[in-house]
Amino acid sequence: MSHTTSHRIIRREKDTFLGTENPFEEMMARFEVAAEHLNLETGLFKVLRHPEKQMIVACPVLRDSGDVEVFTGYRVIHNSSRGPGKGGIRFDLNVTLDEVKALAAWMTWKCAVVNVPFGGSKGGVVCDPFAMSNGELERLTRRYTSGIIEYLGPDKDVPAPDVNTNERVMAWVMDTYSMHHRHTVTACVTGKPVEMGGSLGRREATGRGCMFVTREALLRIGRPVSGARVVVQGFGNVGSISAELMAREGMTILAVSDKEGGLFNPKGLDLPDVLAHVAKKQPLKAYTNAERITNDELLALECDVLVPAALENVITEDNADQIKAAIICEGANGPTTAGADEILQQKGIFVIPDILANAGGVTVSYFEWVQDRGGYFWDEETVNSRLEKIMVTSFREVAERSEAHKVSMRIAAYIVAIDRVAKVHRLRGMYA
Ligand code: NAD
Repeated sequence: MSHTTSHRIIRREKDTFLGTENPFEEMMARFEVAAEHLNLETGLFKVLRHPEKQMIVACPVLRDSGDVEVFTGYRVIHNSSRGPGKGGIRFDLNVTLDEVKALAAWMTWKCAVVNVPFGGSKGGVVCDPFAMSNGELERLTRRYTSGIIEYLGPDKDVPAPDVNTNERVMAWVMDTYSMHHRHTVTACVTGKPVEMGGSLGRREATGRGCMFVTREALLRIGRPVSGARVVVQGFGNVGSISAELMAREGMTILAVSDKEGGLFNPKGLDLPDVLAHVAKKQPLKAYTNAERITNDELLALECDVLVPAALENVITEDNADQIKAAIICEGANGPTTAGADEILQQKGIFVIPDILANAGGVTVSYFEWVQDRGGYFWDEETVNSRLEKIMVTSFREVAERSEAHKVSMRIAAYIVAIDRVAKVHRLRGMYA
């Protein structure tokens, strides 16, 4: 394996979406509101507050210089009542155990909202992947994987890419796991390259899911899909694919942005042209066929749909009042703070919460796991139509709960999720 620094790990943005004193408690605050609506038994409440397993492993890595560095890795399985743990691995200097716990719980709810048979887990290693060579990253990935290997596996816990990890890293995880088990086990991770058991449609799955739930939300509030005016913040995997697929549905993309700012055309951007520009590795700001706009201005544009698909905490108590969208589709994880939630609700904005809106990614990860286990691979059309069915059904279930309990879509999504997890716990009984 090459020890050069080419083929960089892809995502530079630091994701500190729960950059609070105790992110796990922040997460649980929303959980508690939903649990109250469900009259959740005290015992189950306590069970779901405690992650099942928390691992901390030391990962010694031989640096290219010949020195040994020791990195700290975490893996948390929050809940496995509905199936194996499912959750990404992130490489970042900001990784903490509390953040990993919060993200693991979040995965439990996300998998339950779309009713895929997984529990929730997450992992991370405290490191700066941009200061490491490919060889160092490979050795770190393999040592971390072997550190937690007893608790990994298709029936135990199935990692995926997350911040600063990608399909290259997943290939190393799969290889390490397979070497220890003396045979190839493709289903032990998802988000792998298609050549070695990855799924067609996985790369587009999150944006495609955003498109499906946005279409549903427009129908629900009685606005036409064709001609709906859409504004997208973030033009990476989720943002650019959401924009592309929404444009194909006949929606008008008024504005898109990346971290350096955005492009705006009140009559609608020529999206294929913008995508072709970006495909040539050109920054958005070098595109000349549109007006320039800042990210703050973009959030306040008059539109039907706003898709925050960049990073966390962008809609806050400070700017929520200026938002003029009828619908917010949360492509990113945690783009809206709890304080902003209330303001958006008062303004009557229809929010499709992250654990529903961006669950297309984990849904196709589930398809990948199913295909690996069956050894039979689906064509892209099958993947996409099955994704559509799950996203549409999940959206409708959450919307119905929102009406029945007279709560926001966010709390309704938590209600659907907790209800599903709680039901399985009751059926299985408590081994206490
Ligand atoms: P990405 O790295 O491909 O793209 C991120 C985009 O956001 C880039 O265009 C970047 O320039 C832009 N950006 C960064 N900082 C910004 C800022 N301050 N203002 C405006 N734009 C900014 O990442 P991605 O995979 O598209 O993920 C985006 C979000 O979606 C993250 O919150 C991620 O956790 C979430 N998410 C991703 C997936 C997936 O399958 N990729 C699944 C679920 C959730």
